[in-house]
Amino acid sequence: MRFFIFVFLLSLVSSGLSSAVNAVPPATPKNIILFIGDGMGLSQISAAKIVSGQLNVERFKHIGLLTTHSYSDLVTDSAASATAMATGYKTSNKMLSISADGKVLKTVIEYAQENNKATGLVATSSITHATPAAFVAHVNSRKEHSLIAEQITQSGVDVLLGGGWGYFVPSTTADSIRWDNKNLLAQLALTTTVIQTEQELNSLGEVNSLVGLFSVQHLPKAAQRKPSLSRLTKKAIEILAKNSNGFLLMVEGSQIDWGGHENDQDYVISELMDLDKSIGIGLDFAESDQQTLVIVTADHETGGFAIHDGSLQDKQVTASEFTRTKHTATMVPVFAYGPGASDFSGIGDNTRIGKNIIRFLKANE
Ligand SMILES: [Zn+2]
Repeated sequence: MRFFIFVFLLSLVSSGLSSAVNAVPPATPKNIILFIGDGMGLSQISAAKIVSGQLNVERFKHIGLLTTHSYSDLVTDSAASATAMATGYKTSNKMLSISADGKVLKTVIEYAQENNKATGLVATSSITHATPAAFVAHVNSRKEHSLIAEQITQSGVDVLLGGGWGYFVPSTTADSIRWDNKNLLAQLALTTTVIQTEQELNSLGEVNSLVGLFSVQHLPKAAQRKPSLSRLTKKAIEILAKNSNGFLLMVEGSQIDWGGHENDQDYVISELMDLDKSIGIGLDFAESDQQTLVIVTADHETGGFAIHDGSLQDKQVTASEFTRTKHTATMVPVFAYGPGASDFSGIGDNTRIGKNIIRFLKANE
């Protein structure tokens, strides 16, 4: 009896404490959508805003800046940066969700799966490329696409949309870029719907999971891309939102980075505008749902891009310059909307993305 009185008193004390601490209800999102613009620095966003007039990223109220250095280098690559965002820990360039000293780092996708949330990855590159791969694969080198494809196949991720079927079909197949004879597409087809064309997407019925790989390696550039990134984003949300426990979705605009590497301003702008359209779809969903956290950030800036002249009236950037064809160490912006969004404000490090998401997922347990 004394014990029960003690527990009763304890619960009174703790409920008093928690109501004092939680004057504002705890901000734990049911759903999380993370958009990553690969190579998307502030000049890239500024150029897209000049050309489009208004961007969906302007709808965010919570904005911060993130440092992006990796464990090994001041200037990160996509693998180390995606690892920081996917796990909350730094690693060396080229490594995917393994620490610099070789330990497997648990990813936000793996935490979400433990919470019975639906999970998804969408990219305009091969789905085995560094950024999406870091969310499910644990390998020493981002170049091991065949191994990454195997780990993706075994990952149990509910929605995978992007390019890269060449890594999922046996080396004897004409389109294969695998190193062995494994047929991973056939393995995936045992448990989920697998599609490879826009027509199949158009005629798709009700599904609870989906693998859509629409090119041998990377998807075409934005103007020729069918289905578009926003269409893929919309489909992913539609499928994942069926899970009553919520979902975690990562969407990457992979090719902003490639425009930067090629010092091609128009390529950068068109890819950024394509990602921004997808961000609008994520925000529309979050605004109506009110339980969804939307985060937009970049893994690093690419090209040392600067705008020198242009016209707001004519919606044109007439003079710009890239200082290099590689990544830079400048801080990248982070935008957030929904429950937990204020935790992304201010200046931080890119590990903040992974650490915050993991904290939200643990609070859900
Ligand atoms: Zn790059």
